[in-house]
Amino acid sequence: MAKQPMLKFVQIERDMPEKRAAEVRKEDFDEIYAEYAATKAAEQSSRCSQCGVPYCQSHCPLHNNIPDWLQLTATGRLEEAYQVSQATNTFPEICGRICPQDRLCEGNCVIEQSGHGTVTIGTVEKYITDTAWDKGWVKPASPAVERSESVGIIGAGPGGLAAADMLRQAGVQVTVYDRSDRAGGLLMYGIPGFKLEKDVVQRRNDLLADGGVKFELNCAIGEDISFDDLRAKHDAVIIATGVYKSRDLAGPGSGAKGIEKAIDFLTVSNKKSFGDDVAAFTSGQMNAEGKRVVVIGGGDTAMDCVRTSIRQGATSVKCLYRRDRANMPGSQRETQNAEEEGVNFEWLSAPKGFTDYNGKVSGVMVQKMRLGQPDASGRQAPEVIEGADYVEEADLVIEALGFEPEDLPTLWNQPELPVTRWGTIKAAFTTGATDLDGVYAVGDIVRGASLVVWAIKDGRDCAEAIIRKLNAEAVVAAE
Ligand code: FAD
Ligand code: SF4
Ligand code: SF4
Repeated sequence: MAKQPMLKFVQIERDMPEKRAAEVRKEDFDEIYAEYAATKAAEQSSRCSQCGVPYCQSHCPLHNNIPDWLQLTATGRLEEAYQVSQATNTFPEICGRICPQDRLCEGNCVIEQSGHGTVTIGTVEKYITDTAWDKGWVKPASPAVERSESVGIIGAGPGGLAAADMLRQAGVQVTVYDRSDRAGGLLMYGIPGFKLEKDVVQRRNDLLADGGVKFELNCAIGEDISFDDLRAKHDAVIIATGVYKSRDLAGPGSGAKGIEKAIDFLTVSNKKSFGDDVAAFTSGQMNAEGKRVVVIGGGDTAMDCVRTSIRQGATSVKCLYRRDRANMPGSQRETQNAEEEGVNFEWLSAPKGFTDYNGKVSGVMVQKMRLGQPDASGRQAPEVIEGADYVEEADLVIEALGFEPEDLPTLWNQPELPVTRWGTIKAAFTTGATDLDGVYAVGDIVRGASLVVWAIKDGRDCAEAIIRKLNAEAVVAAE
């Protein structure tokens, strides 16, 4: 009888790739996890119990066929594993690195629930596609037939690029417009290199260009080209602009110098990693070196800011969050990484303003909180502890309090563009179609600040819907 290659979760323990020591990794912006060796990837994949109803798959936004590519990896059939993996995910190696797996696929693995430690799904996904790149299995689009229709995509983040890829594979002419100087959106300029190295993003951009996707960079729609002109130029337009308006704290002293927005701080740091000459870094404005840094917020953006500050050589890094650790929105894995690297978390600490010296920030005024009764959603609301206020001294304060959409109907002079009361674009969830004919929207600009994997899903769904529509129109035109 053939040897059973799977269900090894009882004999083999969960084993993540080695993490570089905190003292070493905090000296650079490289990724912190090593790659699996082939034998380790096969071994870890073999722990999967091949569930008949795989909860990992149903909790992956892309419904990746996880049990199949785990089995193929366990049996050494890596090229097939790659084909299965890339059939549902445009950027598997990126999701494998930065999806919050503990809340998605891995968080729902039944092995975890039986006390054996989840299958390391994300790491195997990364391994499969990194191997595919090394072996030359990842190829640019080469559509069987070139179509005459064109689609203009505003925004080169994961949502826009996932749509670009599928449309191009179907032979559609695609141009991606982005106001930034590099494609990738937050993959390039938001998320730091220690989570996602930039050559991993750039090789995807290059692959799309090799497959015929045209990029118009340094091109802001609404400024360099009007939205109306763009619509006139293309058969369909996809809005994939993300959300970039930072929320800030409007307390006393909020205008002091030295209070920066998280996205500006991270963008400057990422540009610096490319060797760009960045004035805001050189001047010291957005450089944490030698400073006491306080980051306000408890989400993934805050985690990226504290860990970037450590790498820039801050003398101390503190993170203020108004709830406790168990109730923070950021990933527990990233919080642990930050703690290992020397970040101090001040839980149940809510900022209410800033102190300054001659207009330069000198500290954050903090109210101590406790968790009160659960609200209707079951979440405990923080309450102020009277008389426990203090000042947290700081030379640089970074606000990571979340993002809101820009006012696109006004900026683009499109009063008809439908938006929700939060300013996100109203679009059908399964297709991205808006009420404006031929105008679609995907990713964060529809969902609000979300995740890369959801932007990819939206982009793929939208591309499929456009292809269906173009096909239907072509049939009518031929009749
Ligand atoms: P974006 O990635 O924001 O891309 C939008 C693009 O549109 C940008 O390139 C922008 O320049 C361009 N654009 C905007 N307006 C215009 C215009 N008028 N004209 C031309 N171009 C325009 N998600 C995860 O899953 N895992 C993580 O670890 C993670 N970490 C994060 C860390 C940070 C610091 C931040 C801010 C977010 C993080 N996210 C993470 C969230 C994730 O990055 C986003 O959900 C995702 O990038 C959204 O994709 P998108 O394509 O909708 O938009
Ligand atoms: Fe898990 Fe994300 Fe990969 Fe889906 S895309 S399998 S959620 S890591
Ligand atoms: Fe395998 Fe876990 Fe998915 Fe079940 S839930 S198929 S054990 S990875």
